[in-house]
Amino acid sequence: MGPPGAGKGTQAKVVAEHFGIPAISTGDIFRFNVSEGTPLGKKAQEYMDAGEYVPDEVTNLMVRNRIDEPDAEPGFLLDGYPRTLAQVEELDGMIAFTGHRLDAVVVLTADQDELVDRLLQRAQVEGRTDDTEEVIRRRQEVYGEQTKPLIEVYRQRGIVHEIDGMGAIDDVTKRIYDALDVVPQS
Ligand code: ADP
Repeated sequence: MGPPGAGKGTQAKVVAEHFGIPAISTGDIFRFNVSEGTPLGKKAQEYMDAGEYVPDEVTNLMVRNRIDEPDAEPGFLLDGYPRTLAQVEELDGMIAFTGHRLDAVVVLTADQDELVDRLLQRAQVEGRTDDTEEVIRRRQEVYGEQTKPLIEVYRQRGIVHEIDGMGAIDDVTKRIYDALDVVPQS
């Protein structure tokens, strides 16, 4: 978890690879569907472009289908899900059913203003339509209102690892490994 631009996607890929499990990014799945013009993409696009969350029913069903895939059976890392309290509850239900367990919640912390700069730079490279300053600010607000409070929910379960997300990518990865107590591969 972490605010938009904190580096979740970047770190998720590295950490998931280390564990030999898929990194499941709801943002990536939505973007793929938008680019393919699927019905799911059509539903998601207007919300994404406005910096709002896609409705829970849509997102929940998509995640449920994804974690039912065989490659997720040994485990998986979720990037960008859950983002609402309803999603937290849905995820609890899903994994109770599949027999998985939530081992850890990694929270990447970062300075808001620095993140806006990062995202504006990324916009030039990746051309994401939701990386304009106005939409970025809205995404930060939505994160603060709907997602940040969930950290407390998981903290009460004792599984939160708060990691400083600023600095070099490798340094952040190392902090995550230290927190999760894993030995990095060279
Ligand atoms: P970032 O973390 O940089 O904001 P993501 O790529 O994770 O971006 O998500 C991009 C957009 O996809 C979000 O702004 C939102 O519209 C949609 N989205 C992603 N995950 C979820 C989710 N769990 N629930 C609702 N909407 C989501």
